[in-house]
Amino acid sequence: MIDFELPPGAKMVKKMAHGVAEGLFRSIARKYDSYEHEHEEVVEIKAIAGMMSGAMGAGGGPKKKKEEGDKKDDKAKAPRGMGVGMVVGAEEMAWGDCGVMLAIPGSGLGNAAINAVATDEQKARFGGKYAAMAITEPCCGSDSSAIRCTAVLDKKTNEWILNGEKIFVTAGERCQLVVVWASLDRSKGRAAIKSFVVEKGAPGMKVTKLEEKLGIRASDTASIALEDCRIPYTNILGSAEIAPEGGFKGVMKTFDNTRPLVAAMALGVARAALDFTKEQLEKEGYSFPYDLGLHKMNAVQKAMLEMETNLEAARLLTWRAGSMLDTGERNSLEASMAKAKAGRAGTLVTQKCVELLGPLGYSQDWLVEKWMRDVKINDIYEGTGQIQMLIIARTILGFGREKLK
Ligand SMILES: Cc1cc2nc3c(=O)[nH]c(=O)nc-3n(C[C@H](O)[C@H](O)[C@H](O)COP(=O)(O)OP(=O)(O)OC[C@H]3O[C@@H](n4cnc5c(N)ncnc54)[C@H](O)[C@@H]3O)c2cc1C
Repeated sequence: MIDFELPPGAKMVKKMAHGVAEGLFRSIARKYDSYEHEHEEVVEIKAIAGMMSGAMGAGGGPKKKKEEGDKKDDKAKAPRGMGVGMVVGAEEMAWGDCGVMLAIPGSGLGNAAINAVATDEQKARFGGKYAAMAITEPCCGSDSSAIRCTAVLDKKTNEWILNGEKIFVTAGERCQLVVVWASLDRSKGRAAIKSFVVEKGAPGMKVTKLEEKLGIRASDTASIALEDCRIPYTNILGSAEIAPEGGFKGVMKTFDNTRPLVAAMALGVARAALDFTKEQLEKEGYSFPYDLGLHKMNAVQKAMLEMETNLEAARLLTWRAGSMLDTGERNSLEASMAKAKAGRAGTLVTQKCVELLGPLGYSQDWLVEKWMRDVKINDIYEGTGQIQMLIIARTILGFGREKLK
C-alpha cells in the first residue's frame, strides 16, 4: 500500500520541531552565523538538546541486535514513524536554522552512525553522547575506501591504536565522541575499513584546526590528529573480522541513516527561502494561483511553481528513504536518490530566491543570502551530488566500481 499520510508520531515530531525552529532557531540564526568560533557552544539550545535529538531520531533508533552481513533485515525495525519522524523533524529544524540544528548536542552524524551499526551494549554506552563522524582525510573524501588512517590491535593491552589525520569533521570540537573510520590492514582494501568510537580526551587525539566556512557557521568543523591514540577493544563498531564481502558494506550502512537526514536538511533550508520569497513577492502584489494556464503565467509565477515542484519531488524521495528505515528494508539506493535530488534542488531554489528578491536578497537585512550559503553543504557532505548519481547509476545498472568510476 502506498500511504502519503504522515504517521501520528511523525506529525507530532514535525509540530514540535517547527515550534522550536520558529520560536528559537530563527531568533539566533544571524548571531551564530556572524561570529563563527566566537561562542564555544550554542547556549540557547542546550536546554532542549535531549528533546530535539530525540525528535531527529538520533537518540533512539533501531533496537534489534544486528549481525554483519544480514541482508533484507539488516536494518532492525524502528518504531513506526521514527524514520519518517526523523526526516520531517530535520526538515523543520533546518527550516529554522541548519547550522544551529547541527550544533544540537547529541544530534551529530556520529549519533546516526552509532544508531545504524552499534550493538545494544555500545548504544547503552555511547547513545546519549554527542558524536561526530570522521571519514574524510587530506588524501580522500569521495573515495572513502582510500582512507589511510590505521587501527592496530595491541594484544597486550587489548586496545586499538589509531594513527592518521581527519579533516572537516562536523562538531569535531564540541562533540564528546568521534566515530572514526580506519583500516585494520591497508593491503586488504575496503574490506578492512571499520569504524571506531574515540572518546574526546583519549590519549593521542587532538583537535588541530577549526574551519572558517561559507555556511552553517553555527556548527564547528574541525581537523583531528590521531597519534598513537589508544581506545578500548570494545569501541569497534561491528566485527573486527576482515571479510572480503560485507565488511565495508557494514560501515557504509551508516549512510543509509544519514543521507535521508541530510536530504531533509536541504529541503528545510530551501523551503525557508521559498516561503520567505513568496511572502515578500505577495506583499509586492504578486499572486500565485495554481490554476493559471502556462501561457498566462509570468516568469516569476512560473519560477515559483517550478521551485515548489522540485522541492515536493525531493520531499517524496526523502520520505520514502526515511520510511524504509521504519520498515527495515535496505534503503541505500533510495537514500542516495533523496540526497542527490534534495541537495541539488536546495542549491537551485535558494539561488533563485536571492535572484527574485533582487539586491535585498543579497543583503544581510534578510536571511535569504544566508540560506543560499547554508544549503550548499547538503550537496557536499555525506557524499557529493555527483557521487550519489554514481551510486544510483551503479545500483540500477548492476555495475561494480571497476565498471563505472
Ligand atoms: C562544512 C563541511 C563539513 C563536513 N563534515 C564532514 C564530517 O562530519 N565528516 C566527514 O568525514 N567529512 C565531512 N566533510 C567532508 C565531505 O564529506 C567531503 O568534502 C566530501 O565527501 C567530498 O570529498 P572531497 O572534499 O575529498 O572532494 P573530492 O572527492 O576531491 O571531490 C571533488 C569534486 O569532484 C567530484 N568527484 C569526485 N569523484 C568523482 C567521480 N568519480 N565522478 C564524478 N565526480 C567526482 C566531487 O563530486 C566533487 O565535486 C565535510 C565537508 C565540509 C565542507
